[in-house]
Amino acid sequence: MKKISRFETKVIHDGYDSEQHYGSLSTPLYQSSTFTFPSAESGEKRFAGEEEGYVYSRLGNPTTSILQERIASLEGGEAGLAFSSGMAAVSAVLFSLVKSNDHILCSEGIYGCTFGLLQLIKERFNVDHDLISMETEEQLLQHIRPETKVIYVESPINPTMKLVNLEMVVHVAKKRNITVVVDNTFCSPYLQKPLEIGCDVVVHSATKYLSGHGDIIAGLVAGRKEYIQEVAMTTQKDIGGVLSPFDAWLLLRGMKTLAVRMDRHCENAMKVALQLKSHPKVKKVIYPGVEDFVQKEIAMKQMRMPGGMISFEIDGGKMAAQKIMNQLNMIKIAVSLGDAETLIQHPATMTHSVVPPEVRAKMGISDQLLRLSVGLEAWEDIWEDLEQALNNC
Ligand SMILES: *Cc1c(COP(=O)(O)O)cnc(C)c1O
Repeated sequence: MKKISRFETKVIHDGYDSEQHYGSLSTPLYQSSTFTFPSAESGEKRFAGEEEGYVYSRLGNPTTSILQERIASLEGGEAGLAFSSGMAAVSAVLFSLVKSNDHILCSEGIYGCTFGLLQLIKERFNVDHDLISMETEEQLLQHIRPETKVIYVESPINPTMKLVNLEMVVHVAKKRNITVVVDNTFCSPYLQKPLEIGCDVVVHSATKYLSGHGDIIAGLVAGRKEYIQEVAMTTQKDIGGVLSPFDAWLLLRGMKTLAVRMDRHCENAMKVALQLKSHPKVKKVIYPGVEDFVQKEIAMKQMRMPGGMISFEIDGGKMAAQKIMNQLNMIKIAVSLGDAETLIQHPATMTHSVVPPEVRAKMGISDQLLRLSVGLEAWEDIWEDLEQALNNC
């Protein structure tokens, strides 16, 4: 197939050649745990890595391979790997990069279960970490130790929407041979391409925007071929968090519309953010697209568009926040994000309830902060639902 370069086309075609599959337009689903060998000798060669071919679906599956090639192409990586969840991807990547007595430097405010994983590997395997705001090069340098092997970044950070300057992080890490891992879940490769900025590994909760339909849990990783192969043959194969072929098939199906969906998510979010800003009961709107967003410059530099996630503060604390959520009709109360449906959640009592209150306060997660994953409905319907809820509280 001729090499294509535009994202909107790649997301539909890359990694799949229908001519190799009886002309099937839709990607075939190889729902098989194992693969037969034409002969005993062939089986011996496949185990020895001397012959191409599938062996067993924990080691590789044709449907999953198409997905892996596609994410690699979209992120600008040499290879990709699919996992049974975003956390299976995050843990396989971290376990592949550190050993006892190593150190991980992490952006403050990372996903709750990633935070939990860091605690676990600290207590059980003596891998230490620091969580820092990663605002300046000096601050990064202050926390880098000789044992620092990984800089782990989320940008935007959930739910405060703080950005980390990826170019700055790469600049510091490259000179010191530190691997930079970016959780790109909030942007998807349509909005942000960390590998092109020089980061080493990208991880995704593909459960969110990549799938886009709220029907699967999945994780994806992209990076250099040698590194991806190593993860595939160690922390993926031996821990075993592989994606099922059916979920790989659903994910390939969902991803085809990623570009058009992201366009609409961003367009809707911008309109809703501006309406929220002009409502008297809303104290603060945090969205990379609004004029007074403090890190506007970084947003313009590393993100194609401001994304579909908005956080906003209202007056009155937890009770008021819960009252507004209960007043909503069309908008659903749920965690997760990136679905067709608009979702709202209350970080202080939901996604970030395990974070100690004083740490939450330091991070900027107040009791009156609400997080909105703006869906694909008519933006007027999203806003009218929010407006009536705000007015009735
Ligand atoms: C949801 C999420 C994860 C975890 O992914 P799962 O698919 O739920 O395992 C990791 N990072 C971010 C930023 C997320 O939003």
